[in-house]
Amino acid sequence: PQVVKSARVMKRAVAYLEPYMEEEKAASGAVSSSKGKVLMATVKGDVHDIGKNIVGVVLQCNNFDVIDMGVMVPANDIIDKAVEEQVDIIGLSGLITPSLDEMCHVAAEMERRGLNIPLLIGGATTSKVHTAVKINPNYAKGQTVYVTDASRAVGVASNLLSEEKSADYQTEIRADYEAMAEAHARGRAEDKRTPIGEARENAWTPKQEHQPVKPQFTGTKVFDDYDLAELRDYIDWTPFFQSWDLHGRYPAILTDDVVGEAATSLFKDAQEMLDQMIGEKWLTAKAVIGFWPVARDGDDIVVFHDEERTNERARLHTLRQQMQRSSGSDSKRANYALADFVAEGADYIGGFAVTTGHGEDDVAKRFEEAGDDYSSIMSKALADRLAEAFAERMHQRVRTEFWGYASDEALDNVALIEEKYKGIRPAPGYPAQPDHTEKATLFDLLDAEKGAGIALTESFAMWPGAAVSGLYFAHPESSYFGVGKIDRDQVADYAKRKGMELKICEKWLAPILSYTP
Ligand code: SAH
Repeated sequence: PQVVKSARVMKRAVAYLEPYMEEEKAASGAVSSSKGKVLMATVKGDVHDIGKNIVGVVLQCNNFDVIDMGVMVPANDIIDKAVEEQVDIIGLSGLITPSLDEMCHVAAEMERRGLNIPLLIGGATTSKVHTAVKINPNYAKGQTVYVTDASRAVGVASNLLSEEKSADYQTEIRADYEAMAEAHARGRAEDKRTPIGEARENAWTPKQEHQPVKPQFTGTKVFDDYDLAELRDYIDWTPFFQSWDLHGRYPAILTDDVVGEAATSLFKDAQEMLDQMIGEKWLTAKAVIGFWPVARDGDDIVVFHDEERTNERARLHTLRQQMQRSSGSDSKRANYALADFVAEGADYIGGFAVTTGHGEDDVAKRFEEAGDDYSSIMSKALADRLAEAFAERMHQRVRTEFWGYASDEALDNVALIEEKYKGIRPAPGYPAQPDHTEKATLFDLLDAEKGAGIALTESFAMWPGAAVSGLYFAHPESSYFGVGKIDRDQVADYAKRKGMELKICEKWLAPILSYTP
């Protein structure tokens, strides 16, 4: 945050000096002293750009020219621009898992079109392993490099463009990535999965008898303009610091030996902007929630039109863990699927989509145009926090009020953040249901685009970006888990259940396949 904040001063000073500098340059014939030109973009289908924007500012502060193409940028646009502007490096960013595949596509396109400039990879779902195993092999002519976080970007870019160091640096990375890819392939051969039939026999079952509670209403309920002031108290601040690359738990982080001072200053700025954001209503909070009569059917959850449960309206598909469980002991862990938390007889499920992102883009743009990247990034980080707070508050109201299965619950914000309540709100695309395409069914049931103004991109990212969605499960023993890697047998069955072509299904599930299709 200190670097980004100082950039504001730098940009203003440069804006003032620029005409004089240009004049002088023209008179003396001096050439630009830029270290190099970096093109950055969040890939097609993805909308998040806080990390990318921080990297952009940090690079600019270190004398790199940065061309930022924004979010949802198709491969061809990125490459066209890179060629046209003769950039030295391309940097790709992404937050959601389908972007991993899109990045492989961009790399393959760079190869096909004969580029050889370095390709940087960053963002929440990206990793060194994925870069080494999946992206790098697509781009033989150039070097792909994974960038852990914003603080590393300058070092990586400088090394890549250094006349003395570049060749050695690239050779080193290539060797490292090749070794990693080999180790990964070896590990994969040993990574045996339990057949899906056996995994189903080891499904999770409740310890205690549970009588499903009927929600206060079925169908949907829209919240048109929710009070932002109410949401403020529900903010979980720890991820806010993470988004600025400051690691540590709130509130302890404020007095941390190393980052305490920076964190305290950042927190103070955040409170001030939040006052304004709420007072002047920069954002509009919208939501839609719904409850439906359901029944479990194998690993599917069937959503019905009414309590009769004869007329099927939709089907939510869930994936089951296929890790091998050691048998023979009482402590043998189950192979979970979300469907396990739903009764085969009459039960209910809920869904939600909330956003505090309406207005977010205009606010951020206004700051950017004023040369104030710090406030632009801050406003986005706060909009994200308010969206998560909205999800937390809405879930609380669902438990105590709208579904009402825990009407006497009394938990403070710390207990809410620690998820001390009964029930879960798993999000499609997260470990318990890694398939983003399930969001389509959820959004359809909720009519979320109409109710809350939230649209889905071709990768099933939500737009506006400050949005959260998921399902509600009320079972008191329901819990989060990760599906982990799954095998061919389940994928074939899952594709059939979804009425989806196997190849397409494998593309969406690529990050969790235990095999190479
Ligand atoms: N307090 C956090 C809340 C978000 S992280 C914040 O403000 O950022 C926790 C949320 O992530 C959960 O409520 C759930 O929606 C999702 N989640 C966590 N683990 C999950 C899992 N294994 N499967 C699906 N969703 C999960």
